[in-house]
Amino acid sequence: MPHKDRATQRDYAKEYHQRNKAKHNEYNKTYQKQHPRQRNNYLKGYRKGIKIAAFEAYGGCVCACCGETHLEFLSIDHVDGGGAEHRRQLGKNHGPGARFYAWLKNQGFPPGYRVLCMNCNASIGWYGYCPHGKAEGILSRTQQQPAAQLALFPNGNLS
Ligand SMILES: [Zn+2]
Ligand SMILES: [Zn+2]
Repeated sequence: MPHKDRATQRDYAKEYHQRNKAKHNEYNKTYQKQHPRQRNNYLKGYRKGIKIAAFEAYGGCVCACCGETHLEFLSIDHVDGGGAEHRRQLGKNHGPGARFYAWLKNQGFPPGYRVLCMNCNASIGWYGYCPHGKAEGILSRTQQQPAAQLALFPNGNLS
């Protein structure tokens, strides 16, 4: 009888699903035991720790230009430029910037770096200045005009 068969099939599918669910849960538990999350948290904490230590060595967890304080937006900027190149050389094996911050720490936080947020960093990197204007006094980066500035303002007129 087809009707009964379908009912049996449905029951079977339900049971199969339940059994699989249990198996899945069991698998997840084992996986989590073998790959404890604490290790991830530890690494994240470690990265955050050396980042904050670096910021503190260069004036605190605040953008030297606009005063941004969200850690997620902040990074160490090489005052004379070339920071990106240096970071590329150091590689990214340990997460964004972690190796760079570790390197700074190992060097005893040498002078020539500052804390900037992404916006100010990008603007200074591309245009050689930041529209906030507050970084003017500390800008020593651009002796020559950056390429982006030349392309956008070929007459050298920035306003
Ligand atoms: Zn900023
Ligand atoms: Zn700025």
